[in-house]
Amino acid sequence: MNSSEDEAAIRRVPVAGRDYPRTYREFVEMFPNEEACATYLRRLRWPSGFVCSECGTAAAPWRQTRGRLVCPACRHQASVTVGTILDKTRTPLTTWFEAAWHVTTAKNGLSAKTVERSLGTSYRVAWTMLQRFRVAMVRAERERLSGEVEVDETYIGGVEKGGKRGRGTAKSLVVIAVEARQPKGFGRVRMRCIPDASGDRLIPFVCDAVVPGAVILTDGWGGYNDLTKHGYERRKTVLASSGDPAHVSMPGVHRVASLLKRWILGTHQGSVTPAHLQSYLEEFTFRFNRRTSRSRGLVFRRLLEQAVVTGPVTEADVTHGYEW
Ligand SMILES: [Zn+2]
Repeated sequence: MNSSEDEAAIRRVPVAGRDYPRTYREFVEMFPNEEACATYLRRLRWPSGFVCSECGTAAAPWRQTRGRLVCPACRHQASVTVGTILDKTRTPLTTWFEAAWHVTTAKNGLSAKTVERSLGTSYRVAWTMLQRFRVAMVRAERERLSGEVEVDETYIGGVEKGGKRGRGTAKSLVVIAVEARQPKGFGRVRMRCIPDASGDRLIPFVCDAVVPGAVILTDGWGGYNDLTKHGYERRKTVLASSGDPAHVSMPGVHRVASLLKRWILGTHQGSVTPAHLQSYLEEFTFRFNRRTSRSRGLVFRRLLEQAVVTGPVTEADVTHGYEW
């Protein structure tokens, strides 16, 4: 293939006017080999054509194998995966794509164990792919919540070490924000693992997760007292003295927290360590916020799109925690 044919292939919309598969059958048709996957990533990464990161030349690159591109002006070698979450991977792109497809189309997602079994990779590779996709999922959740937003904390966990209760059982505190829709229903969510429920933890979370000017619904906890100083309107939902359970006053957070707990127990068999909880919260958030998406294929494309614009993740990031 010469360069211009190559560029034409890149721009071509592959299946029936859509550039994403709707079914597994279409997925298999669209991505039969490494070449097809690399081409797709290239289009997601440079939607208006290749631009050399070294000299800034916007011209069709010379093509080599496995997504390697050479700038016609300065001969700089680029690659569709370098500088993305797929950087330095030895796992075939077809395997990454297969994992991305299943992660985005399976109703409740997949555990690393399931990926290991169904894709025939090692557990380590399966786990690493899922962790990296979770990093890309964070990127997809940039837009802050707005309108009326419920905020409350809940405990998640914990993992029991050596089968004993109590010691070694780590419960993690998670603060959850949920858009409340009128007259009923919920919008998007955001959540964060926090070491304690002090204002120093709660207020920065709200500032990162919710646009200023929004109405924040909270209980009477003092940790939220400074919200008004940060431009939010705080509305305390006071419990009736008749002893209504807490969830009646915060139905969105209660509902999301119970879905989250069920997901961790069901899909991940509860095997989420506190050190990795935040990345699972990101996956849950990504899934929850797209629960009404009209096409899972679009969600698949969205994940890959984020995968190629998100910087590389090192082994240390994955093992010791990523700077969220
Ligand atoms: Zn160049």
